[in-house]
Amino acid sequence: MSHWMRDSITQQQGWNQATMLNLMSEFIAERDLNDLFHEWLENVAANENAEAENVANPALIDVHTEHCCQKHGCKYGKDETCSVVQRLGSQNSQCEICQPLR
Ligand SMILES: [Zn+2]
Ligand SMILES: [Zn+2]
Repeated sequence: MSHWMRDSITQQQGWNQATMLNLMSEFIAERDLNDLFHEWLENVAANENAEAENVANPALIDVHTEHCCQKHGCKYGKDETCSVVQRLGSQNSQCEICQPLR
């Protein structure tokens, strides 16, 4: 249900959000949509968690960003702490192995 729909129904009926939630859960239970609804809720929660993690770990840019490779490892031999290999930051260029021979 879109926000627009929810708001307009709420206004028309003079219902508050708690009433709407009750009606919605009745609607879901009556139609055996519980599993679907549960799945959807888990998706929403997972997305929110992923977003929160992105905020907590802004993409790291350092000396590894330009030189190291997610596939072929850290150019400095520090795979355990390399921001590219550990995927804390993104890789900005292809490594020597990735680059086609010129
Ligand atoms: Zn590195
Ligand atoms: Zn590579």
